[in-house]
Amino acid sequence: MATGNINVSVENIFPLIKKFLYSDHEIFLRELISNATDATLKLKHLTAIGEAKVEYGNPVIEVKIDKEKKQLIISDQGVGMTKEEVEKYINQVAFSGAEEFLEKYKDSAKDSGIIGHFGLGFYSAFMVANKVEIVTKSYKDEPAAHWVCEGTTEFTLEETEKKEHGTDIILHINEDDKEFLEKNRIEELLVKYNKFMPIPIKFGTREETLDLPEDAPEDAKPETRTVDNIINNTNPAWTKQPTDLEDKDYKDFYRELYPMQFEEPLFHIHLNVDYPFNLTGILYFPKMSQDMNIQKDKIQLYQNQVFVTDNVEGIVPEFLTMLRGVIDSPDIPLNVSRSYLQADGAVKKISSYITRKVADKLKSLFNNNREDFEKKWNDIKIVIEYGMLSEDKFFEKAKDFALYPTVDDKYFTFEEFIEKIKDNQTDKDGNKVILYASNQDAQHSYIETAKEKGYEVLLLDSPIVSHLLQKLEMGDEKVSFVRVDSDHIDNLIKKDEEKISKLNEEEKEKLKADFEKVVPKEKYTVQLEALDSNAAPLIITQPEFMRRMKEMQQTGGGG
Ligand code: ADP
Ligand code: MG
Repeated sequence: MATGNINVSVENIFPLIKKFLYSDHEIFLRELISNATDATLKLKHLTAIGEAKVEYGNPVIEVKIDKEKKQLIISDQGVGMTKEEVEKYINQVAFSGAEEFLEKYKDSAKDSGIIGHFGLGFYSAFMVANKVEIVTKSYKDEPAAHWVCEGTTEFTLEETEKKEHGTDIILHINEDDKEFLEKNRIEELLVKYNKFMPIPIKFGTREETLDLPEDAPEDAKPETRTVDNIINNTNPAWTKQPTDLEDKDYKDFYRELYPMQFEEPLFHIHLNVDYPFNLTGILYFPKMSQDMNIQKDKIQLYQNQVFVTDNVEGIVPEFLTMLRGVIDSPDIPLNVSRSYLQADGAVKKISSYITRKVADKLKSLFNNNREDFEKKWNDIKIVIEYGMLSEDKFFEKAKDFALYPTVDDKYFTFEEFIEKIKDNQTDKDGNKVILYASNQDAQHSYIETAKEKGYEVLLLDSPIVSHLLQKLEMGDEKVSFVRVDSDHIDNLIKKDEEKISKLNEEEKEKLKADFEKVVPKEKYTVQLEALDSNAAPLIITQPEFMRRMKEMQQTGGGG
């Protein structure tokens, strides 16, 4: 038997990296800024523990475009690299200096926010550049180094001059990727991926208008001055402690996340856990009327403040993807397929943690201010009802606060309503009967008849509620939900009252037959009202089961 090492040669893997590692060319900028951020955070850590004898100061990362030379330059004032370190970290593909750093400073640096992982990010530069240069000087007192590579396995590395510690990455942008020399395109990318990164990122300058002094004459022109254009908020709300934030801070952050969204969120949930996985974030419940376009603004996923995606499918339970906000976790494996994600143990735990936090928040809103919760119900019911249908764990919690409004705007929990109707609303099998309407106008006369007889009628008009009713019917409580217009009220609910009709049997049958001639038999049932009330003398009903069948065909689901 022979054993050995599989020899992965750089020649083979280099073109692969360039082509396939990242389907999205634009992420090169995210990767290079992540490296610049890591280099700065490393220096912060090393100066803090006294290992680096330089001043940390107020470092910024700078992105510059040189259109003439077709260059995009990313500069940082971080740890830099010696010549040997360039050999080690850059020339060895798939060797991560970030992981090595975390390994070395295991205990002290675990919360340093270092981003790098796989030792591949740097090479994404070759997706957009035919030539990449590194000019770098270590914080250690050693000569600066200059590395040049033209996208092959050959490179040059020599000493050079550079005064301050830190690194410049110079990309010679491909003809095909000219877009990355456009100010607007780069700004767009910076805002998308780096808006909340922890080290300030400078992209050009901008004019700032100074406030006029209070005693300034009316025609005074406000003064302006030129300031660095810093594109990021290094300290976003989700990285802070909930106790340090007020309601206004959460609302401001919502606006920061979705600048085009003018509707205020209903409430927020601050996520913050570090065991058995690491996760922070803020979720918002948006006002969700039934027909609102919920597709546009989505939950954003970050890793150590770097934007990764706004596709959180597989990480957040489906019913919560309708929420908005931010989730930040270094523990979500990202370069794996979505189907793998769903099976990943850590991701499963994250998903059920989020579900639990959302349920707890809803419960406390319900307990602490029921009136307010009732007001919000219409906007949040879709999420809750959908969650109750799709996640059993959520159902168990939500049944305590899920509300069932009546046509008269009273709100009951399921338990409260059952308690209310007690035993005086049963069908012939002894099931408790819950009457509901789905459309207050269309079913008006049926609702009136039921109310006249002293029954409460629920108003359940969300598109998925009929599936939820089925689930409730299958629960421990023996109940059946019937729509007010599905049969004559006296057939729906057993009552021992005498019925008095003003018509004799023969007349009744004739009247009924006349109506049946014009009403399609397969769909509707014609029945005679007892003529002892103010309601209509004759009603046409559609049986509950037929209606539900039809609805299910329309919504395409079966509970
Ligand atoms: P990773 O970030 O996952 O470690 P990369 O391929 O992105 O992998 O980078 C490889 C290594 O090169 C980094 O870990 C780091 O040691 C070094 N490096 C890259 N960019 C810089 C930089 N701007 N300053 C200092 N070191 C850098
Ligand atoms: Mg990296």
